[in-house]
Amino acid sequence: MYAVRIHQHGGPEVLRYEEVPTPTPGEGQALVRLVACGVNFIDIYQRKGLYRIDLPTALGQEGAGVVEAVGPGVTEVKPGDRVAYSNVLGSYAEYVLVPAQRLVPIPDGVTYQQAAAAMLQGMTAHYLVTTTYPLKPGDACLVHAAAGGVGLLLVQMAKRRGALVVGTVSTEEKARLAREAGADHVVLYTQQDFEAEVLRITEGRKLQVVYDSVGKDTFEKSLNCLALRGMLVLYGQSSGPVPPFDPQVLAQKGSLFLTRPVLWHYTATREELLWRAGEVLGWIRTGELKLRIDRALPLSQAADAHRALEGRETTGKVLLLTGFEG
Ligand code: NDP
Repeated sequence: MYAVRIHQHGGPEVLRYEEVPTPTPGEGQALVRLVACGVNFIDIYQRKGLYRIDLPTALGQEGAGVVEAVGPGVTEVKPGDRVAYSNVLGSYAEYVLVPAQRLVPIPDGVTYQQAAAAMLQGMTAHYLVTTTYPLKPGDACLVHAAAGGVGLLLVQMAKRRGALVVGTVSTEEKARLAREAGADHVVLYTQQDFEAEVLRITEGRKLQVVYDSVGKDTFEKSLNCLALRGMLVLYGQSSGPVPPFDPQVLAQKGSLFLTRPVLWHYTATREELLWRAGEVLGWIRTGELKLRIDRALPLSQAADAHRALEGRETTGKVLLLTGFEG
């Protein structure tokens, strides 16, 4: 089979499309023939070495396809099932081994591409608005990078829960997409001071929560946008890691809360995984949640996909396709 692997950390050029043996499923594992693989920002952190992984390895954390074979003790799925998953390394490949407990069924009416596009970013948006800070009508929130993969889904889900949504983006075209997704106000944070804009929009009342995936460039001003006892949900670092932080600042700025959540801890049990994935894929099936697939490239062009995502060129989801039809 073919896979996109890295043997050392570095730029997009370290991604190698190469032939490797097709693996055999062991105890509790399923072999999945992938149709579509999701590209996520975490793949870039792992490629660069910002997040530790053992090398060499195939990259990628998300995919959708068909169960080809199962190992001993697997009861959750059987060969021929349409399945999707996230948070298991190695999805930039034609075949992948996945612990059967991490696989979820793809509902009828949802395509492989949609499922691969929704698992990681969709469940992330889901846990952020339902559990990390459960938004309710009357709340006001800020979504940074609102036209990104997570961003467009987060805006839609925040609106579903009745919150006022302010989004930040870097270009007019991205602003249009964020508005289409439902954002009430959009700020071009590369041209405008988003802290001043939040004060203006909320007439000084500020926000209950900021969902910040940008990190270094936005962190400090994000804290300044929060009302008393508001929450900064720092869930990414697309612009770089946040420097060391003195917790006393949280007291000075209004007894604020700061959390740094990851999807893995919000899908820790099979029950929680099936609930989140079931809701997200269900909303896609009914059309309540709109997915925007920015581009779908052949697996062999993974390096181009990384360049585009890293270069802030993409809006919505980037996929890699194996060429299998399912
Ligand atoms: P996006 O599609 O959102 O791409 C990243 C976006 O970040 C860019 O399009 C850009 O939007 C913005 N950005 C701001 N500054 C920079 C910069 N210096 N370089 C590059 N991009 C920048 O990616 P994803 O949807 O895959 O991920 C979004 C974030 O969410 C990532 O930080 C990721 O790590 C995090 N994440 C966290 C999870 C968790 O559980 N903790 C799970 C999933 C994702 P613009 O041009 O509008 O500024």
